[in-house]
Amino acid sequence: MSTELDEAPRLCELAKTLGERGWLPATSGNLSVIVTADPLTFAVTRSGADKSRLTPADLLTVDADARVLRKASHDFRPSAEACVHAQIYTKLQSGAVLHVHTLANNLCSDLFAQAGAMIVTGHELLKALDHWEKEATIAIPIVPNHHDLQELAAAVGDAASASVPGVLVRNHGIYAWGDSLESAFRHLEAFEFLFAYEVMRRTLTPQSLSW
Ligand SMILES: [Zn+2]
Repeated sequence: MSTELDEAPRLCELAKTLGERGWLPATSGNLSVIVTADPLTFAVTRSGADKSRLTPADLLTVDADARVLRKASHDFRPSAEACVHAQIYTKLQSGAVLHVHTLANNLCSDLFAQAGAMIVTGHELLKALDHWEKEATIAIPIVPNHHDLQELAAAVGDAASASVPGVLVRNHGIYAWGDSLESAFRHLEAFEFLFAYEVMRRTLTPQSLSW
């Protein structure tokens, strides 16, 4: 089992990478990694932190109810969305959860909101989401952006499944997870590629598509 200390530097490094890509605008987004599975405890970014300058002191260890166990050196609060992470850990025994707000994931979450899911088929990058079958098809669930975070956590928890490691929240962002920080990051990159692809495809004119 990893410890907060082991994973904290890698989490900070990842935050910087995600920040540089513009996936954590205006201090949004939150990232976490498991500390102990039983009882569940995980280290999560503090509320309002600039993720591009994240240090291990910006991480707080919380329990399954998102209550702080071990405080950072300042009077920081964990991300208000830590309760959503807790739902995902509890349901899927994942090792890390990454939540980012991007233009492409927001646009796709709105485009396909009525259907309740974005269907993706026949993409090579589905292999990065552990779908190796020929002509693989996945449905990425989309839930409403509940103002009440406990309601949001319940909705994401209900929609989350082991077959697709991510849930979109309409006009908000994506929660992606994996067994480790590395696999959660791989999944997140694959999702964001698929969202950017869909947005770009829709912006191409019929003329440009005949290149
Ligand atoms: Zn958010």
